Amino acid sequence: MRALRALIHLEKFRRNIRAVLTLTGRQVCAPVKAGAYGHGAPEMARAALEAGASHLAVALVSEGAELRDAGLDAPILLLSQSLPCEIPDIIRYRLCPLVSDRDFALELARAAETASVRLPVHLKIDTGMGRLGCSPEDAPGLAVRIAGLSSLELAGTATHFAVSDSTGEKDRAYTGEQLARFSGALAAMREAGVDPGIVHAANSGGVTLHPESWFDMVRPGIFLYGYDLTGTAGEGSVPVPEPVMELRSRIVFIRKLEKGESVSYGRTWFAPRDTVIAVIPAGYADGIPRLLGGKGWEVSIRGRSYPLVGQICMDQCMVDVGPGADIPRWEEVSVFGGDAPGAGELAARVGTIPYEITCHISGRVPRVYVE
Ligand SMILES: *Cc1c(COP(=O)(O)O)cnc(C)c1O
Repeated sequence: MRALRALIHLEKFRRNIRAVLTLTGRQVCAPVKAGAYGHGAPEMARAALEAGASHLAVALVSEGAELRDAGLDAPILLLSQSLPCEIPDIIRYRLCPLVSDRDFALELARAAETASVRLPVHLKIDTGMGRLGCSPEDAPGLAVRIAGLSSLELAGTATHFAVSDSTGEKDRAYTGEQLARFSGALAAMREAGVDPGIVHAANSGGVTLHPESWFDMVRPGIFLYGYDLTGTAGEGSVPVPEPVMELRSRIVFIRKLEKGESVSYGRTWFAPRDTVIAVIPAGYADGIPRLLGGKGWEVSIRGRSYPLVGQICMDQCMVDVGPGADIPRWEEVSVFGGDAPGAGELAARVGTIPYEITCHISGRVPRVYVE
């Protein structure tokens, strides 16, 4: 195996799930889209179910198919909108699409009828995300229509928040408005005589900041992978999630550098003194943001911190381990996570979110599952 790998700490993931189950007392749907945020979908899906999650969620039909092919049998919600040509696979792999409109519902119903199956679907209501979903006003009519189709089962009703992870006053108020619209639509659906099924709304921000958004089931993603974007973890009853991914490599080469000599492309860094440079085979093609170069990021070697220096290359980056360092070649290095700061801090350093960091750890980095 190559030196660089992503260690995936399964028990931390399971603990994060159990913490959400304990906090909310609701069913948990584990989002495992985008290869489980870069952690590896079948493995994380299996761990999620072991820890007590009842549902899985993906974005793509192909992601759902991968889980079924891996032998997973739990309900799989299909969060994104598919094309009509993907409907046969939705049925073949028993996926549960979120439906935003009548036309697609009718196409699903026709195909399910032809296949002689009853397909579960969830109604998606847009309460202010401005993305997928029907309007709250259209929800009762669409729900009645779906419930009246014998080949579809209205198994759930959902919405999605735009700013639930923000503690800002305006943002909290906006989430409150979204909740009010959702509750109004649910009441109108029940009044029209339809059972909305499993009601769910809360993403990670909803779980940590908005208990009134928990309904029957919660869908936290990033929290389960170990990141709290609300800054409220540890306050009151909100648990502190544990980062699941650690990017680990090894020193493959050690070289001396004289004061004034430069490191890497563009010659952006010059040794301020005679020093020793360790070469780490981890670059932007592995998903380490190139923008991290020159930002003073510190990796961890034997529990001590050392700065990355110079620009990050496609396949390598360099660490200044200092003139007197007694560090052997082939030594282990935590690039992020483990003894080094996590993907959350790294994301902040380059102006993005931890989702993007873990999702972008590329396919050429082996995932190693550790208990
Ligand atoms: C990705 C996703 C989630 C999970 O969001 P987090 O911010 O990771 O908690 C929940 N619901 C929907 C519809 C999603 O697309």
